[in-house]
Amino acid sequence: MARDRTDEPEDAVLREVWRDVLRRDPHQQFFHSDVRGVLRSIGPVLVEHPEYVEVVGRLCEPERVIVFRIPWTDDAGRVRVHRGFRVQFNSALGPYKGGLRFAPSVDLDIIKFLGFEQVFKNALTGQDIGGAKGGADVDPKALSSGELMRFCQSFATELACHVGAAVDVPAGDMGVGSREIGWIYGQYQRLIGYHEPGAFTGKPAVLGGSALRPEATGYGVVYFTRRMLAEQDRDLDGARVVVSGSGNVALFAMDKVVASGGTVVGCSDSRGSISEPDGVDVELLREVKGQGGSVADYAEKRSGASTADGSPFTQECDVALPCATQNELGADEARALVQNGCRVVAEGANGPVTPEAREILRDGGVAFGPGKAANSGGVAVSALEMQQNAGRERWSAQDVDERLSVIMSDAYDRVRDAAERYHGDGADLENGANAAGFLRVAEAMTSLGVV
Ligand code: NDP
Repeated sequence: MARDRTDEPEDAVLREVWRDVLRRDPHQQFFHSDVRGVLRSIGPVLVEHPEYVEVVGRLCEPERVIVFRIPWTDDAGRVRVHRGFRVQFNSALGPYKGGLRFAPSVDLDIIKFLGFEQVFKNALTGQDIGGAKGGADVDPKALSSGELMRFCQSFATELACHVGAAVDVPAGDMGVGSREIGWIYGQYQRLIGYHEPGAFTGKPAVLGGSALRPEATGYGVVYFTRRMLAEQDRDLDGARVVVSGSGNVALFAMDKVVASGGTVVGCSDSRGSISEPDGVDVELLREVKGQGGSVADYAEKRSGASTADGSPFTQECDVALPCATQNELGADEARALVQNGCRVVAEGANGPVTPEAREILRDGGVAFGPGKAANSGGVAVSALEMQQNAGRERWSAQDVDERLSVIMSDAYDRVRDAAERYHGDGADLENGANAAGFLRVAEAMTSLGVV
């Protein structure tokens, strides 16, 4: 892709790093976009900390990229092959940590982008975890339960020699829930020959999964949103909220919105979107989705709900929580949100708001909560699961929820303080998240020497 020279950082060192990134992997556009955002944010940090300049080039290159074949046999006896990935991006702060995504769109570009994002996200939680991401280019919805288990076992067979409680601790992501993590962990345990529950998080509770891990990303994004609203002397009570998606993150975000007094006026899935001004019945939606239905099937059961082909973000709302997938909220949706008086957009998903849309929101005075910070609740509770497994403890849901709420609030403070310090009063949280995450990782990398 031809790039405008004005896209280049002004600083000579950052420019050289940027050119290296483009030269090495010229087609990885998701990764480029994320790196560009970080390089844009950290210039002022490097002025205050020139000792971190040399870290930047190393930070933008993953420590290790693992790409592997996943052979398995389907129900008809046919041998099928998929491609698996694990990008171990940075371990300066602790063992690699990050989810596994099963989706047809998974490729090295997406996994590198998500792994890079994870490095900063994990740093912002204040926990001692490095960043990684993995997955496979498979559509789990197209597989029977038996096929998916065999697929997970084949995936785990290859992954096993690269992970471990003190090495790399994968969790779930899109298409990978606690059931799949249980199967992957089962095969891992069989291969290594002993119990090591701390090697995976997001496990079923009976295998040592933390209370509230499924809820954590959705709850966390709402805790973060509350802090953003409080900055504007507002709260969720009475607010109209659009939540895109109706998967793990979206449904638990909806629960917390409703518990906070807000109304979920619209949502979506991969097949369409719906509007329901009087409020989505989250339990009914969960039931319909759990049976393999769509948001349109849900809407058919509700007299006040209507369906639409396009984005859910074109309807009126005070708060928008994109919780489905990358690049789902573009320029048109951002313009609609500004026009309709939306006050806050916070990313529950990874990279759902395009760079162009972010600029439109910024210019339109809509506060933007970047996913690195806003959706870090899931990995934060994963880190709490590691702690529980290491200490052979089980904490109550209430205990985990209180810790999650504090972690999200601290992340917000860290991000806002760095935004103000390095980018001036009223600076956006995206710059703050990049700067604050970078500071923590750069300090650790510098302390470790050139490794
Ligand atoms: P799920 O697979 O549980 O849910 C994804 C939802 O998004 C589904 O409702 C799906 O529709 C919908 N969707 C997928 N593609 C599209 C599309 N192109 N347009 C509209 N809707 C779409 O995933 P999660 O909820 O776990 O993850 C969602 C996002 O949050 C991802 O970006 C993930 O990386 C991020 N995230 C997840 C964390 C976690 O703890 N799970 C942690 C941090 C970030 P359908 O129901 O039809 O399949």
